[in-house]
Amino acid sequence: MEPDERTGRVLILTGEGKGKTTSALGTALRAVGHGMRVLVVQFIKERETGEHLAARRLAPDLEVRRAGTGFLDGGVVPHRRAAGAARDALERAAADMASGRYGLVVLDEVLFAAAQGLVDRAEVAAAVKGRAPDVHVMLTGRGEPAELEELADTVTRMECVRHAFGLGRGATKGIEY
Ligand code: ATP
Ligand code: MG
Repeated sequence: MEPDERTGRVLILTGEGKGKTTSALGTALRAVGHGMRVLVVQFIKERETGEHLAARRLAPDLEVRRAGTGFLDGGVVPHRRAAGAARDALERAAADMASGRYGLVVLDEVLFAAAQGLVDRAEVAAAVKGRAPDVHVMLTGRGEPAELEELADTVTRMECVRHAFGLGRGATKGIEY
């Protein structure tokens, strides 16, 4: 199907500044408010975050699926394990996007997963193209979206002017996780 025959939008949130995942979650909240079912697949995170806890209160309209193995810490075995998990997550997400069961699907950190070589950008593109025509998709994460950009209606690059981490302040509950 030609992109302009679809009503489902594709949005990319990338760049070094803070706000990619939280922007996607804000959109998820907005969509749930309009009665849409939303799936958020998290490709890297495995720890419990505020969004997982909040999603329980909005279930079944909001579903946050933790599919990551945690932060990448190098080494062949962790990388292989992370890549296996990311590929499985993408395959499952592609089926969910094609099913039309969700109005919005967020692939959180998928651009970072692609930049790290955990998933193939071509497979991410295939999943986006294979979605049901009215499904909106958001892709987040640091990393060059390259050929994925041409699939997107909206591309935002967050610019880091300053981040508390750079000032030696740790991750703050409700703000960073
Ligand atoms: P958030 O989830 O807060 O919207 P993000 O999705 O834009 O952030 P990621 O690249 O996913 O950012 O970063 C993961 C973690 O690093 C988050 O806890 C985030 O708050 C933090 N972070 C984001 N941008 C920066 C930055 N420029 N410097 C240091 N830490 C950052
Ligand atoms: Mg993020």
